[in-house]
Amino acid sequence: MTWIDLRSDTVTRPTPAMRAAMLSAEVGDDVYGEDPTVNVLEARLAAELGFESGLFLPSGTQSNLVAVMAHCERGDEYLVGMDAHTYKFEGGGAAVLGSIQPQPIPHAPDGTLSLEALAAAVKPLDVHFARTRLLCLENTWHGRALPLEYLAAARAFCTQRGLAMHLDGARLFNAAIACGVTPRAIAAHFDSVSVCFSKGLGAPVGAVLVGTRALIDRARRWRKVAGGGMRQAGILAAACLYALDHHVERLAEDHARAARLAMALRELPGLTVAGQHTNMVFIEVPAGRLAAFKAHLNAARVRLSIGYLPQIRMVTHLDVDDAGIARTIEAFRAFFV
Ligand SMILES: *Cc1c(COP(=O)(O)O)cnc(C)c1O
Repeated sequence: MTWIDLRSDTVTRPTPAMRAAMLSAEVGDDVYGEDPTVNVLEARLAAELGFESGLFLPSGTQSNLVAVMAHCERGDEYLVGMDAHTYKFEGGGAAVLGSIQPQPIPHAPDGTLSLEALAAAVKPLDVHFARTRLLCLENTWHGRALPLEYLAAARAFCTQRGLAMHLDGARLFNAAIACGVTPRAIAAHFDSVSVCFSKGLGAPVGAVLVGTRALIDRARRWRKVAGGGMRQAGILAAACLYALDHHVERLAEDHARAARLAMALRELPGLTVAGQHTNMVFIEVPAGRLAAFKAHLNAARVRLSIGYLPQIRMVTHLDVDDAGIARTIEAFRAFFV
């Protein structure tokens, strides 16, 4: 029996057609700016999102890091959610490698950071304080698409306070589909946006950062410093271009499957469905049953990440089809009787 892996949308494997696109990619040395496929990807995403310039990087973590380093200098600070990837899940990179202080802000349940809390956290210009330079938001956040009105309000706040705004848009396309708008309509509120290709878009590797030419020039230097200058990276960029052509609209199928899964699990006793947003379903299982539940899922060949968050997160993606959802529901039904 094949495994159904709902731990994350990062587990997707490149499809045969994506591999074929990688195999036939035109390549050159990207550190010299000579990889034609990388150049097409960077220009294409920048144009699609309404920015001057783009930069291809090996990971979303590095993309966010060089973005923060391009916006801020040593001794500056960025405002960021307490549970945001750019604060909590990137090893403290901006502080460790950039000498840039994070100022964490609690999230509201919908993932937004209240403008009151942000305003209270902006430091006065005074030798005692780090200089507040940047707001980082994340969209989707734990699967939730941030409300469009909130993005507009946050933009107005940042403009008024002279702050730049960066979006960790690892799942920007999921957010756009959930809001029924173009990715550009979300990106328009920001000075820079990072998009991951190795999540639901199904590429094996890669992220693209977009921004002004000046910002991306600085980010390109920090990418090299961070060891992210890649040579014949067109092989990887070809997978990302393939994903833009073939794997964006289908994200709606992942959202529909997550909704179907949540609906079926809500019927079961002894289990709480805490929420479903875009391609993620969050459940709670009584602590006393967790070990038995894990063993049961293992026997049914269903993989979930258990014990990482207080809730169990299930993520639908390219490699989970309708039959996989049906098998998962069956496995749950057999346990929660
Ligand atoms: C996955 C992810 C990233 C980047 O992670 P990498 O594994 O470094 O590509 C950044 N932000 C969010 C919200 C993510 O989910």
